[in-house]
Amino acid sequence: MRIVRAKVMGFCFGVRRAIEMVQAGAKEGPIDSLGSVVHNPVVVDKLRASGVRVVSSLQEVSAPTIAVTAHGRGPEITEEAQRLGVRLIDATCPIVRKAQKAAAKLVDEGFRVIIYGEADHPEVRGVLAWTKGQGLAILDPEEEVEIPRRKVALLSQTTKSEESFVQFVSRFVAHNIGRINELRVINTTCPETDERYHAARELAEECDLIIVVGGRNSANTRKLAQTCRDAGVETYHIETAAELDPAWLEGKEVVGVTAGASTPDESIDEVVERLAELAQRRAAPTNPTEGKPCAV
Ligand code: SF4
Repeated sequence: MRIVRAKVMGFCFGVRRAIEMVQAGAKEGPIDSLGSVVHNPVVVDKLRASGVRVVSSLQEVSAPTIAVTAHGRGPEITEEAQRLGVRLIDATCPIVRKAQKAAAKLVDEGFRVIIYGEADHPEVRGVLAWTKGQGLAILDPEEEVEIPRRKVALLSQTTKSEESFVQFVSRFVAHNIGRINELRVINTTCPETDERYHAARELAEECDLIIVVGGRNSANTRKLAQTCRDAGVETYHIETAAELDPAWLEGKEVVGVTAGASTPDESIDEVVERLAELAQRRAAPTNPTEGKPCAV
């Protein structure tokens, strides 16, 4: 059995940067992180051990430092940190920051900002917070939306694929064109996530089983698993190597491994090592006399 790694997988630069910033800050004292720095329980446990606690709101903050994750927050966070008298580590990913700034500028120019994305996703909530109430997140391009002043701008949640954003834009325009005078499309999809989807599709072409490693609460890891299933390959989404079931490998010749943008390298390596062990065990003769010269 051959084990193949996806050409691109695991931590994206935004998540890696956020973890490094928070780890460096934790050396100077405890930190309360507003949400998980990364949607991965293995990393969250490690950070907790180094003094980083996850809190869900500012009311819970008791540490002298708070951290904003790669997903970002609304513009009011700087003032709130000052009011609370805490130090702020802002690890907002530069790509997310670009989307926040674009949304704020478009609203100032009179556009209705529509984000293609999940309204309850922390990144989307953060970008919406920059729109002074003039933004909206939807997934269905045919959902009825108000377009005051007939000016509309379309942005995407960063982890949506470019392809799905293109479809969203074209269907939205087809549905609403009679009510639009001016349209802006800002491509805020993240090339890092797109690269992972492409690599997963490529992997699916040569594998008969794919293992996707990453937190079950990670939207991009779940999407990666769905991409592999859509390509017609048997796929399992696991968080750790301990979840690998040897039965999945029965009759399989090429097993692919990929991982979401929030999965640490060590989790991927553990899965690959465990797969190699299982493959070796499968290749070993079950009969201890098998292969030995006949004694009679
Ligand atoms: S997936 Fe892209 S946008 Fe999101 S944190 Fe990573 S690099 Fe930034």
